[in-house]
Amino acid sequence: MDPNLLSFPAMDGGWHSLGGAELDPDFRAIVESAEDSVIVTDADLDAPGPIIRYVNPAFTRLTGYSRHEVVGRSPRLLQGPGSDPEMLRAISATLRRGETAQGKVINYGRNGKPYWIDLKIFPLFGPRGEVRRFAAFQRDCTLDQFRLDEMRNLAERDVLTGMSNRRALLNHLQTQLLGDGVEQLCFAYLDIDHFKRVNDTHGHAVGDAVLMGFADTLAGQLRRTDLLGRLGGEEFGVCMPHIRPPEALALAERLRQGVQGAPFATPAGPLPVTCSIGVSMARRGDTLSDLLGRADEALYDAKRGGRNRVVRR
Ligand code: GH3
Ligand code: MG
Ligand code: MG
Repeated sequence: MDPNLLSFPAMDGGWHSLGGAELDPDFRAIVESAEDSVIVTDADLDAPGPIIRYVNPAFTRLTGYSRHEVVGRSPRLLQGPGSDPEMLRAISATLRRGETAQGKVINYGRNGKPYWIDLKIFPLFGPRGEVRRFAAFQRDCTLDQFRLDEMRNLAERDVLTGMSNRRALLNHLQTQLLGDGVEQLCFAYLDIDHFKRVNDTHGHAVGDAVLMGFADTLAGQLRRTDLLGRLGGEEFGVCMPHIRPPEALALAERLRQGVQGAPFATPAGPLPVTCSIGVSMARRGDTLSDLLGRADEALYDAKRGGRNRVVRR
């Protein structure tokens, strides 16, 4: 038998047969007992979007919407502020070509709570090859996504300050070095002055509090496109893309002054520190170590010159 002649969900969300075939009770039982959400819509992708003709019970468990509430509406009612418009456009374009679309998207349940789904939408064709309906499987992958975010966080974050760690910062810098606009890329190498004294005088916990305050103060001065990372100990780096030398120097100077002007809250009371900064603009053909090396030399010059200053190489 032509599978398209099997029973299909009808306009009212109930089960009707198409082409006069008898409704297959096994087929219905399988779809209705699936763990994954199944949604069947009609084939019209234009606004207001394809109209839902059927959802299985797993859909209701996932979204909180009863069959009654969604039949006759578009799956777009599941989208919200976190939905990725690029991804949705790509899915729509794939379906318009009559192909199967797949992706991970954020949807929102009836209570407004976001969840991640692995989505697969595929066309169901009529006897003349025309797209007659779309069917979709939605598998909840919120927990996977949560674990992935957590693992990424563990791999890329500095635990103490919450900023990027060394690996993440240097990876980012390397990517920027390989991209366009190398000549407008700046790296700043920062090191807290006489930090050992803070530890020696007040203890490690106070030192840690200074490191946290230091990182927050720097982050507060940066542009949205800059990336701050902790390279280790009391050394930090900032990757500044799309910046010319005068602005890079001005930004580094703002960082230095921001640190100098802000005693950091610690268990031993507010503590002032200063920092030295070495700045270097990337050059065409630079390797990561070329750029880091020049910034490090500039930092060394800043230390030797008396600390609490910015030097460019
Ligand atoms: P300079 O002005 O030349 O940079 O002197 P400095 O004392 O800052 O530099 P030095 O490299 O001699 O000392 C850095 C100190 O940073 C030594 C180490 O105990 C401390 N340190 C490194 N990592 C941490 C950390 O995670 N927490 C705390 N509290 N201290 C740290
Ligand atoms: Mg140091
Ligand atoms: Mg230091």
